[in-house]
Amino acid sequence: MRILVTGGAGFIGSHFVRQTVQNDYPELAGSEVTVVDKLTYAGRRENLAPVSASPRFRFVEGDICDTRLMTQSMRGMDLVVHFAAESHVDRSISGAEEFVRTNVLGTQALLTAASDTGVGKFVHVSTDEVYGSLGADEEPWTEENPLAPNSPYAASKASADLMVLAFHRTHGLPVCLTRGSNTYGPYQYPEKIIPLFVSRLLAGQKVPLYGDGENIRDWLHVHDHCRGIALVAAGGKSGEIYNVGGGTELTNRALTERLLELVGADASMVERVADRKGHDRRYAMDISKISDTLGYRPAVDFDEGLAATVDWYRRHHGLWQGAA
Ligand code: NAD
Repeated sequence: MRILVTGGAGFIGSHFVRQTVQNDYPELAGSEVTVVDKLTYAGRRENLAPVSASPRFRFVEGDICDTRLMTQSMRGMDLVVHFAAESHVDRSISGAEEFVRTNVLGTQALLTAASDTGVGKFVHVSTDEVYGSLGADEEPWTEENPLAPNSPYAASKASADLMVLAFHRTHGLPVCLTRGSNTYGPYQYPEKIIPLFVSRLLAGQKVPLYGDGENIRDWLHVHDHCRGIALVAAGGKSGEIYNVGGGTELTNRALTERLLELVGADASMVERVADRKGHDRRYAMDISKISDTLGYRPAVDFDEGLAATVDWYRRHHGLWQGAA
């Protein structure tokens, strides 16, 4: 199989590429992988170093908004897995333009190229944030929940989701969407809560906890997230959406306490700061659909996954010098 991976130098995309080239997904074993990535602040060629010498790996530096390059890159591809995005909510609050450009226009450019070249399958990697925010007593989201994004990031991802579905319904493009929950693991640029807090604590710096710290996220290890995507890529039904969750709901305060413990720091290292604007209260995913139809189960125990992640940042301290 020939696979084009956009955003393959970023956190989740690079994990998917490393695992695919190393034949960790039986469904995709032996595939040739081409990565297209613009190498923004969040992308690093080094994230792909473990597979860069493989004859089944190729890297193209480029922007997904470049329809000509995308059309060239997509010729002969059996599968496209689309990770490339501006992905950090806080940045979308300071300025939304790049989010609309990459996440909406970039996705549209890819869909046009995929349609024109007759790609076998297009997997769009989306997020649970498109569903909005849940109350404490509400049921976790299923794929049937309406789109109700709050942040400009979530709105740009929801817009992209609609465009993906529109290309399926209008042009018959074979697409699948995955909606993953908050993802953690190694190789993540230190701006989101886990890598930011770990990097700062390891450098002896305080960490900023938003508001009352009671916002809840459904944590998903990158290994499980990418396995879910591989299952959808291999067996997902065209036109369908699949939630991918990790099943560990945790407040940011409880998460911070676990991180403090893992690095051997105490509560004096936590600074309470004003809440993020429009901060969603709770995310939680119902994963019955992907579990029942494709056999997905989260396999990484949260405490073990978190400890291993902290250990990775300890061993790679200073990788993103100055970022945290
Ligand atoms: P990331 O920010 O770590 O990586 C994004 C990658 O996309 C980078 O390598 C970057 O260089 C590349 N990129 C950005 N703009 C580009 C452009 N115009 N053209 C080509 N490449 C470009 O992001 P991530 O956390 O790995 O997220 C990957 C995908 O998964 C995103 O679509 C995101 O919305 C989705 N997602 C992320 C999470 C999470 O918790 N991180 C959860 C659910 C879904």
